[in-house]
Amino acid sequence: MLDEFIHEPRVAYFSMEIALRNEIPTYAGGLGVLAGDTVRSATDLELPMVAVSLISHAGYFRQEIDAQGRQFEHAATWEPGRWAQPLDAKIAVQIDGRTVWIGAWLYVLEGHMGGRQPVLLLDTDLSENSGDDRAITHYLYGSDNVYRLKQEIVLGLGGVRLLQALGFTIRHYHMNEGHSALLGLELLRRHARMPEFVRPGESLYDLPYVRSLCSFTTHTPVEAGHDRFPYDMVQRVLNNGFDIEIIKRLAGEDSLNMTRLALNLSEYVNGVAKKHAEVSNAMFPGYKVHAITNGVHPYTWAAESFRQLYDHYLPGWCHEPQLLVRADCCIPEAAIWEAHVQAKQHLIEKVQALTGVSLQPDVPIFGFARRMTAYKRPDLLFSDLERLKAIAHNHPFQIVLAGKAHPHDEGGKHLIEQLGAHARALAGAIPVAYLPDYDLALAQTLTAGADVWLNTPLPPLEASGTSGMKAAFNGVPNLSVLDGWWIEGCIEGVTGWAIGDAAGMADGKAQVLYDKLEQVVLPLYYSHGENPGGWLKVMKGAISKNASYFNSHRMMRRYATEAYAR
Ligand SMILES: *Cc1c(COP(=O)(O)O)cnc(C)c1O
Repeated sequence: MLDEFIHEPRVAYFSMEIALRNEIPTYAGGLGVLAGDTVRSATDLELPMVAVSLISHAGYFRQEIDAQGRQFEHAATWEPGRWAQPLDAKIAVQIDGRTVWIGAWLYVLEGHMGGRQPVLLLDTDLSENSGDDRAITHYLYGSDNVYRLKQEIVLGLGGVRLLQALGFTIRHYHMNEGHSALLGLELLRRHARMPEFVRPGESLYDLPYVRSLCSFTTHTPVEAGHDRFPYDMVQRVLNNGFDIEIIKRLAGEDSLNMTRLALNLSEYVNGVAKKHAEVSNAMFPGYKVHAITNGVHPYTWAAESFRQLYDHYLPGWCHEPQLLVRADCCIPEAAIWEAHVQAKQHLIEKVQALTGVSLQPDVPIFGFARRMTAYKRPDLLFSDLERLKAIAHNHPFQIVLAGKAHPHDEGGKHLIEQLGAHARALAGAIPVAYLPDYDLALAQTLTAGADVWLNTPLPPLEASGTSGMKAAFNGVPNLSVLDGWWIEGCIEGVTGWAIGDAAGMADGKAQVLYDKLEQVVLPLYYSHGENPGGWLKVMKGAISKNASYFNSHRMMRRYATEAYAR
């Protein structure tokens, strides 16, 4: 089953979550979508990879929202056997003093250009294991810190051992976020010197060699995004024969900090946008954090109508999205508008079907969808409802929202309730729809069908953000706070618009957002008559300047030459 994949050396890409297809709920949000786009681009570019993740039998969760705007979480149980094949090989790790067996499913990612790439989804739900251990790979980001550590043992140690058992030759290991950093400990042990040949003063472990095998991408400056485990827990749960003193030297004296461990075990460390690399360099003095800015997968994120448009006017764009730089001159404006109208119609139908809210095709739609959590400030647009109504009175607009809050993020759940309350308060003046259960398919529909893509994070906490890049692939301009990728992507009035200046918007006031909407964005949208092509110029700017660059093909070509080729 694996024969076609094990004859050439591969890059092993480790990620706790990965968005393979809409029917497979093994992802929570941006991190998993990026992981999926990474492997999709590697497939199109024929860069041999093997992705390693968890099977997550019950997925992240399926989101239901009631009339009050309260979020309810349901298991998103799926049938691996429908999409993947079980592999025979099993390996074992020690967890909590017990032997835990780990098997895997093989999902073959088939690219739209004919490439194939193996994805291993690790599974502890085996008859050899006890009840608790069988559940280790059930819930993505579920339960508590102990559960998380167990999952990270399975991913890091289990993943490396299983790759070897299956006969893969790995030329490089890429840790997508710190969750998989335990893989480096396994590599240290595998490549340890024989004790009888170690000279006095020399270490048993070949740290420089292991580092040369590993790259690490850090994804957030938010503290909760960096796992830490107390050492008494580590000693109890992770006793795989690792010397705790060595772990402390690599992962921090006070607690096992997975980010610190990954930093110390990787030669190449990357942030996900230029600003994020700067912020990370300040957070982790003594390490060099490079910047390969994120991107999104071209074919996946272009709506059907835009795929056809690009195929016709810029053939080859799927393999070489740089060709989209020509979109501003080589694609007729009427054709771009027609493709947008189709994508918007599709969104309007979806909103009607899911929420019963009727949206108008000739009124602009503002889209806002992402994980619902405090620093993303989804409520900023609704700070002053009277002002918002006054703006809409002159220039009508409509709002579509979506996004899940982590089950333990009470603040995020409260935000969803507040958005529901705002929507009710605006009824009759501004149509507002909240689409439940944001997933890959909804993201495709929303980022393509909106007229403006809105983002209002609290700087500098948006490490990159990728949904705005998806919008660019569909000619949808961004209106965003200058943070993450938008610092690089924003050319005022050309690719979209900034809300406030680089330093601004940290004060939580929506004034500048309202001003920009009222004085710049909406008048331009409604100026078709006297300014033909004004709006379309920005749509073309989004495609030619941003989709041509903020794509995962460019990102992977850079990882291949700057990180993996070391
Ligand atoms: C792209 C995507 C995200 C990430 O959106 P950001 O704006 O980068 O936060 C989250 N969830 C889904 C389903 C996505 O497709």
